[in-house]
Amino acid sequence: MTNTNITVVDHPFIADSLTHLRNQFTEIAKFRRHSDQLCQLLFAEAIRGLDFTLTKISTPLEVTVESPKLADEVIIVPVLRAGLAMLFGAMHLLPKSKIGFIGLERNEKTAIAREYYCKLPKIRPNSVVIITDPMLATGGSLLHLLRKITPFEPREVRIVCVVAAPEGVKLIRDEFPKVKIFAAALDDHLNKVKYIVPGIGDYGDRYFGTSV
Ligand code: URA
Repeated sequence: MTNTNITVVDHPFIADSLTHLRNQFTEIAKFRRHSDQLCQLLFAEAIRGLDFTLTKISTPLEVTVESPKLADEVIIVPVLRAGLAMLFGAMHLLPKSKIGFIGLERNEKTAIAREYYCKLPKIRPNSVVIITDPMLATGGSLLHLLRKITPFEPREVRIVCVVAAPEGVKLIRDEFPKVKIFAAALDDHLNKVKYIVPGIGDYGDRYFGTSV
């Protein structure tokens, strides 16, 4: 389903994995396995439309064919900490990608993001920047990062998340209408403490095992 700036990726494996992620009784090993699988499928979708160059190759049958190779330089930027959970799947599919890091801490009372770390590779006009953050809630952290990245004028910026809230999607669309968001689900709303409902809970805690 494509709704302006968000594509909700429809795939039976994604639907199945999302059910396991949403289930509060899913234990950590299973949570990680389904998260990794789901993120790879999301990434496969999120790189659609990137530029390719044709290169001549010779097959084992000694036939020379022109075959496409990914031309764009991809930079993946996981938003620390939860975005790291999506990095492993992304690097699997894009082993030559460069990786940037941004550490943003959410003030639990105000939900405003504070940057505590930033290390980005050089962003060029042929760079495609893919930001990973599993829970697009208020969108405050991503807005902060987009404001940092877009002045370098990369060819494109995309966001890959597992679940998005309408509030965050709107915030990003209002300021960055060209930024495409790819998600496994667009959920209902944010609760009083800015968690996504029905949601998955604290993604970083569940993936890294820091909830207890
Ligand atoms: N971050 C999370 O991990 N979960 C939410 O629901 C919102 C922000």
